[in-house]
Amino acid sequence: MDQAAPIVASSDETPVSPVSTPSVSLFAELGLDPRLLSAVTSAGYTDPTAVQAAAIPAALAGHDLMVSSATGSGKTAAFVLPTLQRLMQNGERNAPGRGPRALFLSPTRELSLQITRACETYGRTFKGLRVASVVGGVPYGAQLRAVRGALDVLIATPGRLLDLLQGGQVHLARVEVLVLDEADRMLDMGFIEDIEAIAAATPRARQTLLFSATLDGKIAQLASGLMREPRRVEVESPIESRSNITERLHWADGRAHKDKILDRLLADPSIDQAVVFTSTQHDAERLAESLQADGHAVSALHGGMPQGQRTRTLTALRQRRLRVLVATDVAARGIDVPTITHVINYGLPINVEDYVHRIGRTGRAGRTGLAVTLAESGDSQKIRRIERYTATRIPVETLEGLEPRRPDPSRSPAPPARRGGKRPTSAGAKPGARFERPQTARHDGAAPVRKRSFAR
Ligand code: AMP
Repeated sequence: MDQAAPIVASSDETPVSPVSTPSVSLFAELGLDPRLLSAVTSAGYTDPTAVQAAAIPAALAGHDLMVSSATGSGKTAAFVLPTLQRLMQNGERNAPGRGPRALFLSPTRELSLQITRACETYGRTFKGLRVASVVGGVPYGAQLRAVRGALDVLIATPGRLLDLLQGGQVHLARVEVLVLDEADRMLDMGFIEDIEAIAAATPRARQTLLFSATLDGKIAQLASGLMREPRRVEVESPIESRSNITERLHWADGRAHKDKILDRLLADPSIDQAVVFTSTQHDAERLAESLQADGHAVSALHGGMPQGQRTRTLTALRQRRLRVLVATDVAARGIDVPTITHVINYGLPINVEDYVHRIGRTGRAGRTGLAVTLAESGDSQKIRRIERYTATRIPVETLEGLEPRRPDPSRSPAPPARRGGKRPTSAGAKPGARFERPQTARHDGAAPVRKRSFAR
């Protein structure tokens, strides 16, 4: 959970206006309808997170927004709440007909389901709220029935929605608010044309809210085609906002050694629940089977599993019937279970950005978490790329009796400088030391948002 991030309103090549730093410290000061406030209170939240404090008033004022926010920062409520408020205020009579009045696009099925749950939580006081989701990998029948009539909110992955749109089975002419969640991820997954086609089927007069870990060139380009004079809201990047997650690296001599280290880690009684990441679906299956044979309450989760089974597995995790989930990257994105105390990278991610998303499965909702990475000497390039991306040295540790033959294969030579400026080399740096990051220019001269903690 990102509670402390200062709002940085910056300008770059994108012609956008910054959102000024809010001085609110309570949900009640954000301008939300009392019905939504009572739903937020029932959910147990009193203080908005930084991204909520900045984005909610700007969205309520009707602006298009480009918001950069970290995983676990509370961004879902930052778009669900103002959207529900707009739908409540405009009223159904202004927009009769078929199809949704708000459309939320998200990259994965899991994230879509998480957003659907958030709509139900925050919309519990919205009388007659109709929410549906349209995601790939599940039978068409129920989804087709769900989108046939009038809807308030539709949550969708772009591929399946475009299928239905092209088949004339879904109508987007009533859309008042379009949200692109994890837009960077959707672009990485090759959804850009789908998103543009979907947006083109919605009214031009809509409000568009874009959320992304970064607001770099590609995102800015997408935004320039879809948004009208967007305000830019920058909250700390995922790289900088994970101070509640402790990271650790164990070097292993090979798979057998890695398995022993994993056994030892999983024997730790301080684990409430753990997600173990593998690089492939096959590894996820294999590892889950062998951990089950060792007596762990464990299940696999990967994109090759039928959606029904994936949903059941996530429910079991949430209900704490599983202590260990062995997952691949795509399947695990969007997992939001605050009782996950440990993330273990058994296989490294293919994309370095996924490292940040993986470790963000722990340390959620204001808690602390431990992220342990297991690497073999052949992984040292990748470890260095992760460290350059996160600008952080992952401290190396060893377990007694399980020391590797090579204590630290990644430490020489030093990581090269990053694009755009020289970075200090790793030689002589302390384990866990942060590389210095170039200062981001602040153009609003605003004071940072007061630091808050959600752990009560
Ligand atoms: P998100 O970034 O939207 O995935 O949210 C991350 C987690 O923070 C979820 O478990 C939310 O339920 C929780 N959360 C959202 N808003 C708040 C808040 N204002 N205070 C505390 N927790 C929150």
